[in-house]
Amino acid sequence: MSRYFEVLFLLIFAGLLFPVFPVASQQKEFTVVIDAGHGGKDPGALGSSSREKDITLSVAKKLGALIEKKHPDVKVVYTRKDDSFVALDRRADIANSAKADLFISIHCNALSKRQQSPQGVETFILGLHRSKDNLEVAKKENSVILLEEDYSQKYEGFNPQEPESYIIFEFMSDQYLKQSLRLASLVQHQLVHNSNRINRDVRQAGFLVLREVAMPSILVELGYISNPNDEKYLKSTAGQNSMANSIYMAFKEYKRDYDKKNRIFSNETTNQHQKTISSETAIEYRVQFLTSPKKYEAGSPAFKGLSPVSFYKDGTVYKYTYGSATDLSEIIKILNEVQPKFKDAFIVKFQNGIRIQ
Ligand SMILES: [Zn+2]
Repeated sequence: MSRYFEVLFLLIFAGLLFPVFPVASQQKEFTVVIDAGHGGKDPGALGSSSREKDITLSVAKKLGALIEKKHPDVKVVYTRKDDSFVALDRRADIANSAKADLFISIHCNALSKRQQSPQGVETFILGLHRSKDNLEVAKKENSVILLEEDYSQKYEGFNPQEPESYIIFEFMSDQYLKQSLRLASLVQHQLVHNSNRINRDVRQAGFLVLREVAMPSILVELGYISNPNDEKYLKSTAGQNSMANSIYMAFKEYKRDYDKKNRIFSNETTNQHQKTISSETAIEYRVQFLTSPKKYEAGSPAFKGLSPVSFYKDGTVYKYTYGSATDLSEIIKILNEVQPKFKDAFIVKFQNGIRIQ
């Protein structure tokens, strides 16, 4: 009898673990998506004798060629390889359906007043802007969606020109923040020290294209096409080679860390291994919409029709949540459903069922 339960227990346990955390997934090849900003009918920023879309495409292809040549184990995916228009959500689709491990978006910055244009390189990761400057860069890059016919529907009412639209980005930066920041710092460092660009730092802002991708991601503004010195460099073959090489060097270092981590990972015993995977994948997002000292029953009018609703207790207070997703883009969709009813609703994060910051 006890043997029977032992076997049963093992079967249930194995059945619970394996379908959720397939062991094979960690052996997949590393995929990097290289995203040349703009293209086709969207030239991007304009210099006096060059266009952002041409510079980004050239650097993207050079970068991809370097990675392909030196890392046969890495799959390179491009969002565009020619002068074609690719919508922002399509760029993200390409990266997400490739199940990429990294997303590198390449752009050039510009100011409308050429005389006052700063120069230098800045590397962005997704997040809430901490300065008006950063917001302006995101606004400019996001306004590409205005060229898409059904943008308001596709991006769920997001208006690139409206500062209120950007509040949502505060909730997005967690999941891949550390890895994105690591890559951004490496890229910025290489462009400054290897390509001798002026350092305008790693920054955060709400870029739609970064919001939509489910992987560590950066957006690099190689320089100011509106600044004569930067433009000369940006459009030169030598400059483009050097910038591609700098980003490549950063990628190489990032990948080396990644491999090191994965090797240690697979040397661990199966038990530890499963523990590591489960703690990494047990992140869950919910939308918190109501806080009350009262415990409401399911179907209560207080929920304004939301069902099913969960709650957790924080001291003496009940906090009510709706929806559950392991990926941010999913929970954002749910948040968008909830906000018309509860305008202060926001996303909360759980690990192994416990609310975390
Ligand atoms: Zn751009």
